[in-house]
Amino acid sequence: MTTNDDSEPEPDETESDDGEPNETESDDGLSHPTRDKKHVRALTDGDYADMWVFCETQGGELLEVSKEMLGKARALMDQFEEDYGDEEDVVAFLMGDDCEGLAEECIAYGADVAVYHDDERLERFLHKPYTEIAAHMARGEGTVESTDWREYDEPRYILFPATNNGRDLSAKVQAELDSGLASDCSDLFIEENEVSNPVKTGEPGVKKTVEKVLHMKRPDFSGFEYSTILCLDNPDRDFHPQGASVIPGSFEPLEPDSDREGLVVEHEMDIPDDWFRVEITDYDRLEAGIDLTGHDVIVCLGRGIADDPTAGMELGLDLVDAFEDAELGITRGIVTSSYQFEGHVEAYSKEERQIGETGQVVAPDLYIAAGVSGAVQHKVGMDESDTVVAINTDTDARIGDFSDYFIEGDLFEVLPRLTAAVEAGETALEPEAVADGGDDDD
Ligand SMILES: Cc1cc2nc3c(=O)[nH]c(=O)nc-3n(C[C@H](O)[C@H](O)[C@H](O)COP(=O)(O)OP(=O)(O)OC[C@H]3O[C@@H](n4cnc5c(N)ncnc54)[C@H](O)[C@@H]3O)c2cc1C
Repeated sequence: MTTNDDSEPEPDETESDDGEPNETESDDGLSHPTRDKKHVRALTDGDYADMWVFCETQGGELLEVSKEMLGKARALMDQFEEDYGDEEDVVAFLMGDDCEGLAEECIAYGADVAVYHDDERLERFLHKPYTEIAAHMARGEGTVESTDWREYDEPRYILFPATNNGRDLSAKVQAELDSGLASDCSDLFIEENEVSNPVKTGEPGVKKTVEKVLHMKRPDFSGFEYSTILCLDNPDRDFHPQGASVIPGSFEPLEPDSDREGLVVEHEMDIPDDWFRVEITDYDRLEAGIDLTGHDVIVCLGRGIADDPTAGMELGLDLVDAFEDAELGITRGIVTSSYQFEGHVEAYSKEERQIGETGQVVAPDLYIAAGVSGAVQHKVGMDESDTVVAINTDTDARIGDFSDYFIEGDLFEVLPRLTAAVEAGETALEPEAVADGGDDDD
């Protein structure tokens, strides 16, 4: 795994089976510290193909992010065929209790092949069996019937959802397959890449072009910058599948097409009972929280409402109501404040409405941030919005750096004017009309 600079890992000594250190092989003058790992089956010059997508399920349904990843994988592999002339498949893989129907649904959402493992003991996510089965599937192990559609060692690419379970599983499966992982990615594309690092080329001073490289973009430093991670083989060691976990909401799912044709394959494997040493004896279903994603408009309130928190909240809600499809979000500043909200608006001050790094990530057509300073932890949750309108008394507020319109003014004066403008059907947003909080005639 490497960022674009391909940093070289430190050399080390490895142990042989009898516990004695091995001499690190250095036939090419370079060290390969993990080449002799015994617990995994590393490959060299393996055959790789297809993009695999782990389709997480919950309560007998595919998670939305599973559909989103399938849509993205479809687009990537269609482009792959155009670029390289090779037809490679999108392969969904999943497991659970009675999940054959879900495998068929994966085909409707863009997969060419769906491999599923049915076992009532797999109804809920469990580390050991889920990891073992996923790695077994990826290696092409299983029954003859389940593997004759593929003629390669391991997937070329593999995607997991960056959910709680998906993050766990992705790290474990990629370790099992002796590859790496770019976690929490928000964009993916496939391109060639020119490398000069001798660890990757095998020879100092030589440039080499590597084809079909999955470029995995992810936010770093709380979204302050984006890095592109590449997973490139060494001359003596393969790093496949090239793997990523994907932030929910990053991609659009395809419209499901129940007439799409694809291959549904049942996976078989003996699963020992001692993989189920963790027994789930009881569980509670959390009440569904507020989903702020997918709305045309988000009105977000920040600590600028401090002078009268209840009135500020009411004004934000009035503006939400003026739009056809809007929701109210808040900053963490409000969640952690000690504001005393009156009962009718108190529910809107809870963490479930928080937008940002530790809250929800939204990308509406219009994002109206009232009394929000624009901390980097907030920015990462709204950065992808089409149009950002900021209302702030402080022209130096950081949110000005990433707003399309900045309205200098007191939100207690600006918000009612904005609401009136929207209610009056002035759909083309004209922030100047409400910017100065001045007389009623403008
Ligand atoms: C690990 C970590 C994770 C975090 N995660 C998140 C996260 O997910 N989401 C998040 O939002 N924050 C998060 N934070 C907190 C973040 O750093 C900021 O503290 C927070 O976003 C600030 O909220 P705010 O903009 O409402 O408040 P402030 O920073 O206090 O800004 C208030 C703004 O309102 C303006 N203002 C004041 N009065 C008015 C008025 N009458 N009219 C108009 N404007 C006015 C001020 O000029 C100011 O710009 C996180 C912090 C950490 C350390």
